Amino acid sequence: MASEPWSCHNRDVPDRDNFVPNADELIQNNATFVAMFADQGLALAPRRKLAVVACMDSRMDVFQMLGLNHGDAHIIRNAGGVVTDDVIRSLVVSQRLLNTQEIVLIHHTNCGLQTVRDDQFKSELERECGARPSWNLESFNDPFDSVRQSMDRLHQSPFLKAKDHIRGFVYDVETGKITEVSRPPQD
Ligand SMILES: [Zn+2]
Repeated sequence: MASEPWSCHNRDVPDRDNFVPNADELIQNNATFVAMFADQGLALAPRRKLAVVACMDSRMDVFQMLGLNHGDAHIIRNAGGVVTDDVIRSLVVSQRLLNTQEIVLIHHTNCGLQTVRDDQFKSELERECGARPSWNLESFNDPFDSVRQSMDRLHQSPFLKAKDHIRGFVYDVETGKITEVSRPPQD
């Protein structure tokens, strides 16, 4: 556990088999953060004119793994890093209001969305909750395919104006390495 090479974070968090809420500890951690805070005066618009769309996976620290600093980029995250309508919403704000020009998509190996199937999951939800969700779970088998699909959605969106610099990657949670995903040329 202590040898996981990509993490510089505190390794002392106990296994929470008996769950204890975190918020009180986070408040204490934040007080330490505030005492060291040195990012005053950063611009609202990202310095690198970059938006990153990534999975919410707890093993990916997007700033750390890409060498980004505070103020460099918008980071838009959800389950899978899948391009949904709400990701498009955030990207439209990012591009039109805050002038970003580049999108980097990052899905990863061993994603939670590879362990389920959309139809089965929605049926279970419906049985248990009495309502079927209007949204798709967006599960997938292969993260490379899911990146390609999300890249297609970006290119097809009528709302995005900056599409010249869109690239997709899969992050390997065991090595920390990102591998670029090729997308066949489209007509
Ligand atoms: Zn994931």
